[in-house]
Amino acid sequence: MIDYLIIGQGLAGSLLAWELIQRGCKVVVVDNGRENASQVAAGLINPITGMRFVKSTDVDTLLPAAKHRYSQLADFFQQAFYIEKPMLRIFRSESEFTNAGKRLNNPDYRPYLGDIRPLGDGIGHLATPFGFLEQRQTGYLLTRSLLSCLKAYFIANDSYRQADIDYRDIRLQPSLRWQDIAPRRIIFCEGYRATQNPWFCGLPFQPVKGEILTLEHQAELADKILNYGNWLIPLNDHQIRIGATFDRESLDTRITEQGKIDLLNALSQISPTLSHATLINHQANIRPCTQDRQPFIGSHPRHKQLAIFNGFGAKGSLQIPWHSRHFADALLNGTPLSKTCNIERHYERLCHH
Ligand SMILES: Cc1cc2nc3c(=O)[nH]c(=O)nc-3n(C[C@H](O)[C@H](O)[C@H](O)COP(=O)(O)OP(=O)(O)OC[C@H]3O[C@@H](n4cnc5c(N)ncnc54)[C@H](O)[C@@H]3O)c2cc1C
Repeated sequence: MIDYLIIGQGLAGSLLAWELIQRGCKVVVVDNGRENASQVAAGLINPITGMRFVKSTDVDTLLPAAKHRYSQLADFFQQAFYIEKPMLRIFRSESEFTNAGKRLNNPDYRPYLGDIRPLGDGIGHLATPFGFLEQRQTGYLLTRSLLSCLKAYFIANDSYRQADIDYRDIRLQPSLRWQDIAPRRIIFCEGYRATQNPWFCGLPFQPVKGEILTLEHQAELADKILNYGNWLIPLNDHQIRIGATFDRESLDTRITEQGKIDLLNALSQISPTLSHATLINHQANIRPCTQDRQPFIGSHPRHKQLAIFNGFGAKGSLQIPWHSRHFADALLNGTPLSKTCNIERHYERLCHH
């Protein structure tokens, strides 16, 4: 008997499946094998964001859980997935410099912030007209390698199927079934494609397309992540990734000339040299963002055997490890889900589905 049929092998489905398998459940993960948001994502974790330098909600809980999970996976697969690297936040105005200065005096922010450098201090050849700030406890997840290791692990455990699920093939009566599998529950982790899910499409998703570039260059660069409104990750001495655009209008996964131009223009503001680097990859995908900026987790109000684990928006790498543990506790031990992520808050939208 299969306990959980998980639909989608992005970061959400993968880490939830891993968690449930570790706790002794029989799980099958189904994925259509197409490139997904997780594989395209930069995997950045940045606790302090925005022009006002605000700490992400619950980062003090989410970040230790994420680091713990990624280091446990690194031990298991004998390779590093989470690369911790400081981030230099390059101010774009004098008010950013002032806002950041205020945070430095706040003890809640201290663990995440390093030195602030005023106008005049530079970072190599980069333009830093308003100074910059060093952020700590930042880094990025090598999501693509992690997902490919987990896929191999699921296959070896007889827990993986490649298929594009047609929702009409899921039978609820007399008992839950898809093809030859009769699971106790189905957990949907389809990323932005949940907007097509007949049971959960009523949830207020707000998908956001993003594009990202990989460039090859010959410049001297510090081994630090840069954040100048957009971000830059040095992958090695000659390759960087830059991103990402935010587009709420065109919700397809095609790369665009405009996306490329916007990213390169932003880069040229801090480094005209780098913006002429050679383009070696250009990717696009859709973030599963939600209108209330909180994840969508929990069971369907009328069909308790159907559940969702989704809505991690632009912060999957930070949020998914803690939430997969929290959801597994709810599924296996009946621990109540936290109100902020529980889809109960939107039940009235799902009742007629
Ligand atoms: C350009 C870009 C940059 C990003 N940068 C960051 C970042 O720096 N840091 C960060 O934390 N997050 C980032 N994100 C967001 C991150 O990608 C998401 O938070 C996270 O990957 C969502 O994972 P998921 O598993 O929910 O969705 P997905 O990764 O989209 O996975 C869903 C899976 O379900 C499968 N699926 C869907 N429907 C079906 C079906 N009917 N049958 C079978 N399979 C199905 C899909 O093929 C896919 O494999 C970025 C996203 C983009 C697009």
